[in-house]
Amino acid sequence: MRTFDKLFIGTKWEAPSGTGTIDVISPHSEELVGRVPEATEADVDRAVAAARQAFDRGPWPRMTPQERIAVVQKFTEIYATRLVDMASVITEEMGSPMWFSELAQAPAPWMQLTSFLTIASTYEWEETRTGMLGEQVIVRREPVGVVGVIPPWNVPQFTIMSKLAPALIAGCCLVIKPAPETPLDAFVMAEMLIEAGVPEGVVSILPAGREVGEYIVRHPGVDKISFTGSTAAGRKIGAICGEQLKRVSLELGGKSAAIICDDIDLGAAMEELKFAALMNNGQACIAQTRILASRSRYAEVVDALGTMVGDLKVGDPADRENYIGPLVAKRQQERVEKYIALGQEEGARVVVGGSGRPSGLDKGWYVQPTVFADVSNDMRIAQEEIFGPVLAVIPYDDEEDAIRIANDSEYGLAGSVWTNDAAKGLDIARRMRTGTVAVNRYLMDFFAPFGGFKASGIGREFGREGLEEYLEAKSMIPAF
Ligand code: NAD
Repeated sequence: MRTFDKLFIGTKWEAPSGTGTIDVISPHSEELVGRVPEATEADVDRAVAAARQAFDRGPWPRMTPQERIAVVQKFTEIYATRLVDMASVITEEMGSPMWFSELAQAPAPWMQLTSFLTIASTYEWEETRTGMLGEQVIVRREPVGVVGVIPPWNVPQFTIMSKLAPALIAGCCLVIKPAPETPLDAFVMAEMLIEAGVPEGVVSILPAGREVGEYIVRHPGVDKISFTGSTAAGRKIGAICGEQLKRVSLELGGKSAAIICDDIDLGAAMEELKFAALMNNGQACIAQTRILASRSRYAEVVDALGTMVGDLKVGDPADRENYIGPLVAKRQQERVEKYIALGQEEGARVVVGGSGRPSGLDKGWYVQPTVFADVSNDMRIAQEEIFGPVLAVIPYDDEEDAIRIANDSEYGLAGSVWTNDAAKGLDIARRMRTGTVAVNRYLMDFFAPFGGFKASGIGREFGREGLEEYLEAKSMIPAF
């Protein structure tokens, strides 16, 4: 049981203004595993005041980028020593299978840090250009200000770090509101920020629900919002920011297509496809959950997926042998069950899985990993984000038809192509209207921009583009 009785306000542990608490319940045992204070609007006011003071008058934005890089470097070194604990905390609070926590949930934020440090070390914070009259123009990059950070619960450290690392290096101050399901990992990280010497006022961490989140979004002392979460919440947050002309980055939902070409060796592809489609119990914005298979090999693809998913071990996420753990909460279990029932009503065929608990698991928020065949792309199970281990296999006629189906989605976050022909893979990738396309695997690269086309978001994370989300461009045009 991990208990915290203070909030993290202005890079210090402080008593909360209210008396409310948030209970963290294990999705596997349904037992209490942690408790933290619940932040209130009064705590947001305190955190924003501390951040404003640090940004408007404190040393952080006035240090050189190299001085800030040195502090973030120290934080990165400390983070590397805490990966084992971080992986366990995340598995305890949200049920991520331990193999995924150890492979991605804990180390990927550290890799983001090291990538941003490399990018920042050669970044041109001030450049001189030749202007239209032949004069010298200086283009300078300055921090955007106080940033409100709102991450989801599914990859909690991953989504905090994709914002915290570039924002700190840029010289911003942050007010972070973790999702109520996952406050513990954020508080473990808070200890490391103090140890690294991040100055007073620069970072606050306030666990709370969506009302307090919206209070941060509307707060006049906040210059920018960086949000990862559902498209529905993103639309609302984007509208508020639009009204206030507040800067905003939105990383939202997805319904990504994996195009399986006819020439692929299915046996070899299945292991990579398993990861691409089912990582984190299918609770991944980038999950490749629409599997597009040509009619000529459709039955073969459905069989291979049915066997792969049918063989998955489901159970206690702390056990490294289990590929699939529970969903984060009862409401998510119910939501995924509803989609499994809906798929059947829509006329899709259950190949493996279906409704009801996996055998041998009488508690915890588990669902059966499910594969649907005979899915058409206009069914709701093909259009809506289910956010669980549920795959829809959709037939296509030819390459053109596959690309049309892949692009026939309100989302455009990720995608993949599976082929033995590298040139064909890249050609198809070029024609997909989506932010990231991988060929023969799924991987994000922290040196390349990541983000959504269409309703999957606005803005980019990672790479130079991810750093620039936290910078304003200023032009200085002297007459000498
Ligand atoms: P959610 O939108 O319900 O909540 C996300 C966060 O926003 C939480 O901290 C929540 O408390 C807060 N929130 C919700 N409504 C708000 C509002 N109106 N104002 C301010 N804050 C608000 O999403 P979730 O269920 O926690 O996460 C799952 C979603 O996140 C999925 O749609 C998934 O695809 C998406 N996601 C996207 C990415 C990406 O990089 N594009 C990464 C991970 C998850």
